[in-house]
Amino acid sequence: MNPPSIALVTGASRGIGLAIATRLAADGYDIVGSATSAAGLDALHAALDASGRLRAALELDVTDPASLEAACATLDTQGMWPQVLINNAGMTRDNLLLRMKDEEWSAVMAANLTAIFSLTRRCVRAMLKQRFGRIINITSVVASSGNPGQVNYAAAKAGVEGFTRALALEVANRNVTCNTVAPGLVDTDMTRKLTADQRDALIARIPLGRMASGDEVAAAVAFLASAQASYITGHTLHVNGGMYMA
Ligand code: NAP
Repeated sequence: MNPPSIALVTGASRGIGLAIATRLAADGYDIVGSATSAAGLDALHAALDASGRLRAALELDVTDPASLEAACATLDTQGMWPQVLINNAGMTRDNLLLRMKDEEWSAVMAANLTAIFSLTRRCVRAMLKQRFGRIINITSVVASSGNPGQVNYAAAKAGVEGFTRALALEVANRNVTCNTVAPGLVDTDMTRKLTADQRDALIARIPLGRMASGDEVAAAVAFLASAQASYITGHTLHVNGGMYMA
């Protein structure tokens, strides 16, 4: 029997990332999850220890080169380069363009786009060598639809989708696939920051009439990681309740 595959999930402390880590653990992957704080690492342990599948909880700020270097050193020394990489960590700093500060632009680019370049570049080497890999990037419906107040976030997520298609072409001949999952409105801390009025207005635009759960996004990720998706690459899988149809 083959040893279990390692799935590295960034931002696995809460929200969609924790749902993905939990689902992939249930599917039999060994999980390496990351969080930026001790509290986040504790949350990951609390959720996954009982599964017996949490191989490591790594402290990682994906925007900090020293933190990335330290995490990669751990992956290397402990033989934990992943077969499945889920670039999930992300954040928002919303503002209208005319008011947007340089810092709001660059922080969102760093966390949502540059970090994916940096971590994927490190992880893909082992995948190419093994002639197997699954890279799944979490983007957003706004990469396709746009959203006022989110020029930074929409640009970063659209950038990830372009990155995904280009990388898919680079690595396909080594049996490495690269896809994105683009959620709509998901019930997590990120959307709990919205006012009730903002949330209600968004839900009114969703044909299925409700937000998604993290588990529903995790199911799409689990599919793209699985053998059933072995011939799918360069694809964006929308999980948005019909909110936007490209
Ligand atoms: P969330 O509840 O706010 O959680 C964000 C996660 O990302 C946390 O685990 C957080 O870690 C991590 N993170 C943030 N900045 C980081 C950094 N610099 N380095 C490493 N980790 C970092 O968000 P979510 O809703 O689960 O979102 C997960 C992904 O889905 C994001 O890429 C987001 O853009 C995308 N998405 C969300 C929605 C939605 O409606 N919620 C819709 C579309 C797309 P800590 O806990 O350590 O801070």
